[in-house]
Amino acid sequence: MSAGSAAPVVLVGAGLAAWTTARELRKLDASVPIVLVTRDSGDFYAKPTLSNAFGQKRSPEQLVTTPAAAMAANLQITLHTHATVQSIDTQAHTLSLQQSGSVRTLAYSRLVLATGATPIRVPIAGDAAQVVQRVNHLDDFRRLYADVAALPKRADGSPPAVLVVGAGLIGCEFANDLSQAGFAVQVVDPAARPLAALLPEDASTQLRQALEGLGVVWHFGRSVQSLDASADGAHRYEATLSDGTRLGADLVLSAVGLRADTALAASAGLACQRGVLVDAHLQTNAPDVYALGDCAQYSAAGGRTLPYVMPIMNAARALAASLAGTPTALVFPLMPVAVKTPALPITVAAPDPVLQGQWIQDPATTGGHEGGAWRFIDAAGAQRGFVLTGKQTAKRMEWSKATLP
Ligand SMILES: Cc1cc2nc3c(=O)[nH]c(=O)nc-3n(C[C@H](O)[C@H](O)[C@H](O)COP(=O)(O)OP(=O)(O)OC[C@H]3O[C@@H](n4cnc5c(N)ncnc54)[C@H](O)[C@@H]3O)c2cc1C
Repeated sequence: MSAGSAAPVVLVGAGLAAWTTARELRKLDASVPIVLVTRDSGDFYAKPTLSNAFGQKRSPEQLVTTPAAAMAANLQITLHTHATVQSIDTQAHTLSLQQSGSVRTLAYSRLVLATGATPIRVPIAGDAAQVVQRVNHLDDFRRLYADVAALPKRADGSPPAVLVVGAGLIGCEFANDLSQAGFAVQVVDPAARPLAALLPEDASTQLRQALEGLGVVWHFGRSVQSLDASADGAHRYEATLSDGTRLGADLVLSAVGLRADTALAASAGLACQRGVLVDAHLQTNAPDVYALGDCAQYSAAGGRTLPYVMPIMNAARALAASLAGTPTALVFPLMPVAVKTPALPITVAAPDPVLQGQWIQDPATTGGHEGGAWRFIDAAGAQRGFVLTGKQTAKRMEWSKATLP
């Protein structure tokens, strides 16, 4: 290590992964110098609130729970905001940082990459394709919020039309939130049903019906081919779907998934596949360089990326312990995710996609007001996942205990 152990632990990023690692490390070591570098403002907010803020009438400013400067002061760390890490020299243990037009070099003793993920862009043709919004950061939400606020009142008093592209987790959450906030929401997805990758068919049906109850209109088995300025003036844009259907929209939000942000890591020679590859100690293939959060692909999860809050909390605690001098292997517990669709609350403990098995509905749960409960049983007969909807979500703890991670 040429930079010397007096050099700080440097964290790249200011999302949940970087801030939680900083907080956990500071709990264990009051004196180790910590530097956090981020290309955004660094303000702390809970990203999951981005997809239920409209319904709760919360502005982007109200979503910030602690400004960056207060976070830095509380944790006694040095903060570089609006600063982009351009390259890493893993031999020299240095990185190059661009801030306010100038570039400088920063030494690290240990480096933690928490660079997050980037929304996937599906190609859409047409003269209005550039207006499609994607929300994965507070700054994205600021843009969406400003656009929503600027939507003109419609002459006939009908609500503005929002087109959501993607019926996955984020798409369904936004569909629920924007409907609740009074918009006319339509959702387009090539799959046959909402949350098709996560839910058994009957649970999907419950979610579809619950969101239809709020006025959501679905267009399954189709994709958006093009988006153009509207010719008739009834809406701002007109989307053409793969089957030729035309839909009017005043705002278009794409939520078709995320891709781990690996560009910086890959350019430094770190091994990457769907994310930055890390071993059970969150270590990359370069000495003293670690990764976690949405950018990481975990050997502790059988080589999966896990872009959710609970994996980050677990990974940050294990990494902080290792950085503080107690090498700690990451072992993920079962980590159910609560889908924020108040029209039908859902808790999902998704089985590993490589597992063979089948979903079986608990016969005591029939849907409707009582909700439903499904267990995923693997080929050996063990419960390896579950889905709870509606009132059944109260059984989350009990069902977690009965499920193998
Ligand atoms: C709308 C929405 C709702 C969600 N809801 C839920 C939920 O209900 N439950 C759940 O479990 N999960 C949810 N998630 C997922 C969860 O929020 C994320 O997994 C988590 O916030 C990711 O945190 P992160 O720190 O890894 O990445 P990010 O928050 O993306 O942070 C990455 C950071 O890296 C910085 N950065 C990147 N490159 C550089 C560079 N070169 N130089 C300097 N800085 C850089 C960025 O500026 C940013 O600060 C949701 C996600 C979204 C988008």
